[in-house]
Amino acid sequence: MKTFYIETFGCQMNAHDSEKVVGSLLSQGYSRVDQWETADLILYNTCSIRDKAEQKVFHRLDQFKRNAQGKVFGVLGCVAQQEGAKIFERAPHVSLVAGSASYAKLPQMLVQLESGNRRVTGLDFDASDAFETPYTKRDNPHRAYITIIEGCDKACAYCVVPFTRGPERSRTSESILNEAGELARMGYSEIQLLGQNVNSYRDPSAAGLDFARLLRAVGEVDGIRRVRFTTSHPRDFVQDIVDAIDENPYLCNHVHLPVQSGSDRILSRMQRLYTRAEYMRRIEWMKKARRPIAISTDIIVGFPGETEEDFQQTLSLLDAVEYDSIFGFKYSKRPNTAALALEDHIPEEEKSRRLSIVFERQRAVQIRRHSELVGAVEETLVEGYNQATGQWIGRTSQNRTLNFVHPRFPRPQAAETLAGSYLEVRVTRSGPNSLAGEAIAGIQ
Ligand code: SAM
Ligand code: SF4
Repeated sequence: MKTFYIETFGCQMNAHDSEKVVGSLLSQGYSRVDQWETADLILYNTCSIRDKAEQKVFHRLDQFKRNAQGKVFGVLGCVAQQEGAKIFERAPHVSLVAGSASYAKLPQMLVQLESGNRRVTGLDFDASDAFETPYTKRDNPHRAYITIIEGCDKACAYCVVPFTRGPERSRTSESILNEAGELARMGYSEIQLLGQNVNSYRDPSAAGLDFARLLRAVGEVDGIRRVRFTTSHPRDFVQDIVDAIDENPYLCNHVHLPVQSGSDRILSRMQRLYTRAEYMRRIEWMKKARRPIAISTDIIVGFPGETEEDFQQTLSLLDAVEYDSIFGFKYSKRPNTAALALEDHIPEEEKSRRLSIVFERQRAVQIRRHSELVGAVEETLVEGYNQATGQWIGRTSQNRTLNFVHPRFPRPQAAETLAGSYLEVRVTRSGPNSLAGEAIAGIQ
């Protein structure tokens, strides 16, 4: 029996790619092990979005080299796509270098590896069947990812994704809805639609659905109780998406809408294709919706040329929107990107200072907004049980963590676990990052 070990970094797209890779390997007769030292095939699924990603990958590959005898090593994902065959030069013990568009060809690549080929590459973007990997081994028993669009046709000045994931390719609505139906039959109740820009989705088949119509259709699949989607690009975000959320309670009332900066000057230097006013119009649509829609975002501080005045505008945008949560990043230089040619790079210490101010400002907003939820009753999907705190771990439709106690189920019994069920939970306490509560209804 051949064994494999896989290590995954990066976004949900990468996590889902690894699920496809694992499914493919299991179907080829491989079995999975938890220690790389005991595996025949070691795969490293990489991310190159920020920081010194390439160096970290080579450092990890060096560690693997300690015990390389008789083993086959493969580098997958964005660093594989970005560095290509150069990886073989710097890490000669690596035999496979493959980007995300080539995973459907994994069985053929494995045959080449098994026959002793020590320079196997999968770096083309032309694999139109990239989504149709027949086997996917999902990590979560209740929530399933479905890729609806690959790649990105935007060209944000800081971003490496268009180089590592290639041009935009949407999947047919029929194939997406079939997979959603299949997942519902397998017992999954939550689906998360994935893409670098999900709302740029354009159905390539005759049905011709846009993203809002696709959302409605997935929300109507029998057995699916929650539909999430990430990430939405502000430029392609239309009122109809908000209308769809308002109409269908199975569509989660949470939208992740990355803004990056509150300054028009920086948004233009970033080539983000919208102004602050256009972004705020989209926020207004959501604030006026009938259902309360949670909004989260990504912020980059210290983009080249960002002045104190520009930074203050990002802070004023945080105050104006009052996000439910944010991801904040220090700008980092990425290979091939347009921002490399810009002047006025900001010193690291200054970027760190700005980022901690952003987090401090946001923390105050979250403390206040969460405290307003005390007393509310939230439908909560139970994700598991935390032995250390003695609480069930739950997630609300708005994507908040809501940990709770259950009067009838103080702890999981062997025969019955609440995980996977939807419960009504009353919020009794709040903190900056999560809520705590008590279940008020039985299993539904
Ligand atoms: N497609 C999404 C969009 O347009 O908003 C974002 C995808 S990207 C994988 C996730 C986040 O990483 C971005 O929203 C951005 O905040 C951050 N990011 C990307 N490149 C970066 C860089 N060079 N430095 C710092 N943060 C970066
Ligand atoms: Fe990167 Fe911009 Fe594309 Fe998002 S839209 S993946 S930030 S280039």
